[in-house]
Amino acid sequence: MAQHPITLIGGGLVGALLAQQLAQRGFAVDVFEKRPDPRHAGFLGRSSASCAPGTRPSMDSGSRSINLALAERGLHALRSTGLADAVLQRAVMMRGRMVHDRDGQHGLQPYGIDDSEVIWSVSRGALNMLLLDAAEAAGARFHFGQALTTVDFDRQRLRLADADGVERDLPAGLLIGADGAGSALRAAMNAHTPLGERVEPLGHGYKELEIPPASELPAAVLQANDGRDGFALEPNALHIWPRGSYMCIALPNTERSFTVTLFLPGKGRAPSFATLPDAAAAATFFTEQFPGLLPLMPRFAEDFEHNPVGTLSTLYLQRWHLDGRALLIGDAAHAIVPFHGQGMNCGFEDTVVLANLLAASPDDHAGVFAEFQRQRQPNADAIAHMALENYIEMRDSVADPHYLAKRELGAL
Ligand code: FAD
Repeated sequence: MAQHPITLIGGGLVGALLAQQLAQRGFAVDVFEKRPDPRHAGFLGRSSASCAPGTRPSMDSGSRSINLALAERGLHALRSTGLADAVLQRAVMMRGRMVHDRDGQHGLQPYGIDDSEVIWSVSRGALNMLLLDAAEAAGARFHFGQALTTVDFDRQRLRLADADGVERDLPAGLLIGADGAGSALRAAMNAHTPLGERVEPLGHGYKELEIPPASELPAAVLQANDGRDGFALEPNALHIWPRGSYMCIALPNTERSFTVTLFLPGKGRAPSFATLPDAAAAATFFTEQFPGLLPLMPRFAEDFEHNPVGTLSTLYLQRWHLDGRALLIGDAAHAIVPFHGQGMNCGFEDTVVLANLLAASPDDHAGVFAEFQRQRQPNADAIAHMALENYIEMRDSVADPHYLAKRELGAL
């Protein structure tokens, strides 16, 4: 039986996975996505998760690999949509944290007892493209280069702008916003009826750098590391260089590079991004604080100068929906800081719950939206809290001998 048409805003990770599931359940789904189709234009941007609401996401050059940790929560959702195997074929297993101390020593802290308890590093761009293909195959229609600008909820019309700024109005239909942390739909809903929005900036930012494949590095540079299979470092680990109030991490890519992310206070006393005004100052800082890492990044100066500092915030909303007219999902409803690697995973879990609720009660939109929030908000709040706690664990506790002793005894 034909279901109600659904207008989905945002064809990122969560929007594409939701579109696939809704189309599979017989809904007519139109997805309006601000960016061009990444399958033709290349993957230009990273998540808007780093954006304070109302600001633009940071963009990368399109040539770097940006990756994410996929965990059981997200894998479970992908399994239920039949996509898990295809995604894992494009992922690198991470068995634990490889912690690097200031003396250049490193050791693995496994996530579990065997390879059934691991997480996976996946390319954001490759994953998004796979999800777009799957959603289209299921019957969802994508409209790229179409940014939502405003919604007139009283007249049930929405306004879209193309890349040239040319605007057009359309009937709104049943609106679902998967347009990320800076959600335009959320802004429109909030202007109509306040959603009880609270944004807590972390005060720390991040910058992405890259370790290329071992083949691009001199042999002398590789000697001190456990790289293999063409990787400069141990490939099956999430690498952490904890330094108390800041840290670097590195996740492997299938093309044998690592995406390195420096997390550091945005401003204030050294070290902060404000006290590293250029690549030369940053190189001195890396030599002192992350010995061994700088020689693995031959394009450090270029990356440091070119790549923007992303900002990180947690978004809390009292209301995720406007009666039965509009609903927010994924980062648009609950953007979190990335230290538990759970933002996308949590958003994937959202999509399964929402698709099942809508399929079960396709005519009761207000009831479905309220039930979706009732089920998902406590989980999103808990993950937001754990993500903030995990920043302290990753940048500090993992290097603490007392923490390590407790871990040995199985207390952590
Ligand atoms: P997004 O990925 O932001 O997608 C939103 C989409 O909506 C985009 O395609 C955008 O172009 C589109 N859009 C925006 N505005 C409009 C508009 N006005 N009209 C139409 N379309 C619009 N999560 C993990 O699970 N594991 C990790 O390891 C992890 N690491 C992270 C590392 C960093 C540094 C950051 C910042 C985040 C990380 N996350 C991680 C979080 C993860 O990136 C997000 O939770 C995830 O991307 C949310 O997906 P989404 O589809 O809701 O939003």
